[in-house]
Amino acid sequence: MGQLLSHFSRKETKVSSFHDLAEELVKAKHVVALTGAGVSAPSGIPTFRDPRDGIWRRYDPSICATIWGFRKHPDQLWRLLLDFCREVDPKPNPAHRALAMLEQLGCMHAIITQNIDGLHQEAGSSKVLEFHGNLMNSVCMSCRDKTPLNKDVMTNPATAPTALPPRCTKCDGILKPDAVLFGEAIPSYALWESRREAQRCDLMLVIGTSANVSPASDLPRLAMASQPPAKIIEISKTSTQLTHRVSDVIIKADCVGLSHTVEAVTRLKASSTRS
Ligand SMILES: [Zn+2]
Repeated sequence: MGQLLSHFSRKETKVSSFHDLAEELVKAKHVVALTGAGVSAPSGIPTFRDPRDGIWRRYDPSICATIWGFRKHPDQLWRLLLDFCREVDPKPNPAHRALAMLEQLGCMHAIITQNIDGLHQEAGSSKVLEFHGNLMNSVCMSCRDKTPLNKDVMTNPATAPTALPPRCTKCDGILKPDAVLFGEAIPSYALWESRREAQRCDLMLVIGTSANVSPASDLPRLAMASQPPAKIIEISKTSTQLTHRVSDVIIKADCVGLSHTVEAVTRLKASSTRS
């Protein structure tokens, strides 16, 4: 009970830098990153339902973001996805690339993401647990067969699907972009495996997310409650609900600054092999 209460009490969160993060990463044995919309924002991906953005303004979220809406008007989410590929055409940014580099340097063991854009994998990260699925895969509503979608095929007028929604080549069922819509369950493998990673890690980075929506919000608390407790480091421009409650450290900056951490880790690793 005392331990449970301590999770809700005030905690000191120290302010730190990308440079100091490198030392923590080199010391840690198992590092997990929990990422959210703030990591994809520098790639030009607007927050869903951001009223400033043209794409979302043209589509009704009650149709495109819910499974009930998809069942009634399955073409609408596909139209949104085609517009998204043509107009936004997102590419990995320095934060995605830095996380992939940290994996190569042996300082990143799993990424748990709330993003649905597949940019961590495109940057080269190999263990990515997608809480909310991936917009760049399709899933058949009948036989559940999954197929990766190719951005080039989707954006080329000669090859982009014209009959919407596209149909499954195996059973002719309706295909759905494999993002988790409101009304759908979080994929059980991602849920189970991310909880396992949270309990296993000794360092968790929480990047570009306030992690205030369950079940993602449970993960930093789960990592903090493991024995011995994992260190929680937030990278966020502003304080979040985790600051002074869960996080040990906050780096108040844009996450693209992680490239400085990669440089510092590379130097630390090089000096330790020389000595
Ligand atoms: Zn099928």
